[in-house]
Amino acid sequence: MKEKVEELKKEIEGYIVGTAEELEQYRMKFISRKSVVGDLFNDLKSADAEIKREMGRTLNELKNLAQDKFKEFVSDLDNKATDQKLESVPDLTLPSAADQLGAQHPILATKARIIEIFERIGFNLSEGPEIEDDWHNFSALNFPENHPAREMQDTFFIERDPDIALRTHTSSVQVRVMENEKPPIRTLSPGRVYRNEAISARAHCVFHQVEGLYIDENVSFKDLKQTLYHFVKELFGKDTKIRFRPSFFPFTEPSVEVDISCNICKGKGCNICKYTGWVEIGGAGMVDPNVLKASNIDPEKYSGFAFGMGIERITMLLYQINDLRLFTENDVRFLKQFKNIK
Ligand SMILES: [Zn+2]
Repeated sequence: MKEKVEELKKEIEGYIVGTAEELEQYRMKFISRKSVVGDLFNDLKSADAEIKREMGRTLNELKNLAQDKFKEFVSDLDNKATDQKLESVPDLTLPSAADQLGAQHPILATKARIIEIFERIGFNLSEGPEIEDDWHNFSALNFPENHPAREMQDTFFIERDPDIALRTHTSSVQVRVMENEKPPIRTLSPGRVYRNEAISARAHCVFHQVEGLYIDENVSFKDLKQTLYHFVKELFGKDTKIRFRPSFFPFTEPSVEVDISCNICKGKGCNICKYTGWVEIGGAGMVDPNVLKASNIDPEKYSGFAFGMGIERITMLLYQINDLRLFTENDVRFLKQFKNIK
């Protein structure tokens, strides 16, 4: 019996309890009536008086050891539970998390900057419908009957004959202004336009344009040049140079493509400007007399210029963005980068 008691003492001393279930197992084994300790007390009942006295003391020591250990386990588990509770309570003295404010979309930010520049030199703002009839989108702008832009591959038609389409440019807004206002006209038309193009890093079927129109007596090509020169210096910096290349549009004569000196390499040559030092930003020209006539403006008395630019293109040049699709993919990592632009 002595040996058995020594064995149990060692077992109790080395016992480890981590959970409430383990504590219950311990209690069943060493504390309860049917425990090994209880069994030993039962065995002692039938022993001699001498042994009873001697072993009684030893068994009582074992019983006390088991109970002390039990109290220790209970207290440890209690502390553990309290610690866990404390950990799950947030630290109320910490400062609160900052509000996650969104950012203005880069396209809208660029649009606002362009509007601001032209408003300061007397241009007002005009807007029009995105679903247009043939007259406002094509015919009034001197598009010949067989012009490729009218064809299915370029234009999203909603109805044919009479043609109703998603506008392919914001020039349609200028037609509406010319119909309703008398010169002098100085207006800027920003907005969304649609063309049936395959989506790639450089093209999209939905994009934004901003077009300008100035009609008055004695408006010359010189005014067009100076206005655009002022604009690019304001937007891209005062050292920006401007270059016109002859081009053709149905609604202007003469027509030009407008380039600016590359704002990234400052004209030295880089992969954005394809090592030419120049990047195209849009088209422009003197309003074709046929366009003035179509809106009942006398081309003998009045002349004017018009220009158009893609807002995506301008934004890509301003922030060195190399893929147009980023604007519409709603990737928060991309949009977050524009938090601080104004
Ligand atoms: Zn460059």
